[in-house]
Amino acid sequence: MKGNFNNQTAENENKGVALLDLKRQYETIKDELTDALKKVSDSGAFVLGPEVKTLEQNIAQYSQSEHAIACASGSDAILLALMAAEISPGDEVLVPSFTFFATASAVSRLGAKPVFVDIDRDSFNMNPADAAGKVTLRTKAMIPVHLFGQMADMNRFNSIARLHGLTVIEDAAQAIGAELDGQRAGSWGDMGAFSFYPTKNLGGAGDGGLVTTRNAGLAKRLSLLHVHGMEPRYYHSIIGINSRLDSFQAAVLNVKLKYLEGWTMMRIQNANRYTELFAEAGLDQIIGLPKTLPNRRHVWNQYTIRIPGGFRDELRKSLQEKKIGSEIYYPLGLHEQECYRSLGYAAESLPETYRASREVLALPIFPELTETEQRTVTGGIKAFIDANPMRRTFPAASAKAA
Ligand SMILES: *Cc1c(COP(=O)(O)O)cnc(C)c1O
Repeated sequence: MKGNFNNQTAENENKGVALLDLKRQYETIKDELTDALKKVSDSGAFVLGPEVKTLEQNIAQYSQSEHAIACASGSDAILLALMAAEISPGDEVLVPSFTFFATASAVSRLGAKPVFVDIDRDSFNMNPADAAGKVTLRTKAMIPVHLFGQMADMNRFNSIARLHGLTVIEDAAQAIGAELDGQRAGSWGDMGAFSFYPTKNLGGAGDGGLVTTRNAGLAKRLSLLHVHGMEPRYYHSIIGINSRLDSFQAAVLNVKLKYLEGWTMMRIQNANRYTELFAEAGLDQIIGLPKTLPNRRHVWNQYTIRIPGGFRDELRKSLQEKKIGSEIYYPLGLHEQECYRSLGYAAESLPETYRASREVLALPIFPELTETEQRTVTGGIKAFIDANPMRRTFPAASAKAA
């Protein structure tokens, strides 16, 4: 016993801090999940069963939307939304360059052209003025992304879209439960795309996604499109794809949705605590801390700091040596990706995207993260900066710019 106890202590001492530890959450709901999965096994309804219907109703309600159509992934949710909007070759779709690849690849999949828009420095979200300036006669839609869990400026995007007759698809993959003016992500645009990939705030035990809409006509089209446009069976009025959600995933997600509000509150608390700890360490004017803009509920899928001055990668390496997890979302704007080079964007033609991709570092923020672990993270960053005094002269402009 004594030996075990000692081992345990030694282990804890150099365990470090994981970027994301899904096991902790799993342990708290293990029995409930097992029961839910057993029910599906016993029922034999493995695809689009009653669990999926329930999930669609639950998420529509949670996201303040009328309709929800579950599908195989967040990437498919974006693709299906674009298909429902009848985006076709020759069309242009406005997307931020600073986002996960799927936001733009869905556009390319349909033979349409993604038009890359720069971001705002404070929110990392698509810049409305740049978007408005890039509208052409070919522009058919826009996909504002609620990056890291904070909503984009949907009031501005919706008015630009109204002016030009564009379809608005919210990429809410990182933002379930996020709010602007008290209204939830996924209920602002014509459609909202969600992902249940395990790293998202509501994550399944594998891939999953969903589209929300308040428009009955779009809902009908989406419900056809994700089952090969088939109705009745083996009669196809439109060409769709196979993108269904498994009942097992829906069962897991229905269990987890009950806890989502609580987990979101824990993420918010962790974000606030980082802000305090960084201030306490005197780092809040040296590194760029993430901001919550007015009238928003930020749900903190990621807590992303900026390390100006070209030291981001060195800091990350030093954290790695201390077994402190971090990640770079995203190391390149999409306009700089090899597969989009033919579109002809110069790297610095989207200056805020260019800058963010070289400065950002996401820190552990999952709900079950402890204060001790957060102190390890902020302490690790402080140690790096203290060990390199000249680095205290990081240009704070990026951190402080309004
Ligand atoms: C995760 C993510 C997606 C894609 O979701 P998948 O379920 O992984 O296909 C799309 N957009 C953004 C912004 C994401 O973070």
